[in-house]
Amino acid sequence: MNRSSFIIDKIFNKERLSRAEALELVSTATIHDLGQAAYSARTRVYDNQAFFVYNQHLNFTNICANACRFCAFSKRPGEKGSYTLSIDQVKEAVSSRLDEPVNEIHVVGGLNPELGYDYYLNLLEAVRKLRPRVKIKAFTAVEIAYLSDKYELSHEKILKDFAGAGLDALPGGGAEVFSPALRQRLCPEKVSGRRWLEIHETAHKLSIPTNCTLLFGHIETWEDRIDHLLALRELQDKTGGFLCFIPLPYQPGHNELAAKGPDGIEFMKMIAMARIVLDNIPHIKAYWAFSGIKAAQLGLWYGADDFDGTIVEEKIGHAAGADTPRGLSIDKLKDYIRSAGFDPVQRDSFFKQIQHPF
Ligand code: SF4
Repeated sequence: MNRSSFIIDKIFNKERLSRAEALELVSTATIHDLGQAAYSARTRVYDNQAFFVYNQHLNFTNICANACRFCAFSKRPGEKGSYTLSIDQVKEAVSSRLDEPVNEIHVVGGLNPELGYDYYLNLLEAVRKLRPRVKIKAFTAVEIAYLSDKYELSHEKILKDFAGAGLDALPGGGAEVFSPALRQRLCPEKVSGRRWLEIHETAHKLSIPTNCTLLFGHIETWEDRIDHLLALRELQDKTGGFLCFIPLPYQPGHNELAAKGPDGIEFMKMIAMARIVLDNIPHIKAYWAFSGIKAAQLGLWYGADDFDGTIVEEKIGHAAGADTPRGLSIDKLKDYIRSAGFDPVQRDSFFKQIQHPF
């Protein structure tokens, strides 16, 4: 028996892989063997189910104090195309879809120096008032860290204030890749990987669940990717607060980095390795808005169990040239999942199955 078969047997036996084993696996196993192992790990928990959410994205500002080299979304104050939604405009955006059974609102934005602490609280309260039963997944650890530094408030205080105003969960953005050396080259102004993890740990202690991400397919190596996954796995062992991991394929358009982005094989390997290494994070997402619908469908066979949602209207990946629709109808989403060979299951932000639209 060769070494990669021995490692694959461990996955079928539900045994945890070490760093060395994960690296050996990804460099020696065929894409089919990797996919089969990841599919078995996914299927023994979820059978043929694939989850999706009826959600709405709200990107309240694209003005940002940082200048991450892979970002095509951010603008400087006054730059052409920059925008900030007033609280009234936020209300309009939410009100415009009140007739739809949206059950999650995903809110993220740039680090806009003009916005006061009250803006964030007012935004949450406004959304909560208009949508009393929706789950609000808002503000990345990067935004929490920015507010913490600007207003000299602890992460815990901010998270408690936000939860009091309506926040239910944190999205997983801003993790990028934790390697300090790479962060220096990719996003030197951004919060460190260590602090990103600390903020999520604080959220978990406050019973605020969170998601987690990895931006891949740029200048990182498989060593960087596996180390990133292991840091997430370690925190999850401690807190159990991560709901879902989302591997985000780097989008090559309109940004300084000018890397190539992952191809289809690399995308499938990433999904499969996430399912295999993250044995304690329940859900792995094939995020169609970044990967394309066809790759996301195949991702369900390579270890993913979640297809994300209707979205309307994705701005961040599309600013970087993502060649996908900006949103999908619920019927289209279900059709894509069914034609991939899976049973669509509507969920909320906490991955609870939704029987009725509200
Ligand atoms: S990735 Fe986020 S923090 Fe970085 S420049 Fe873009 S909006 Fe700002």
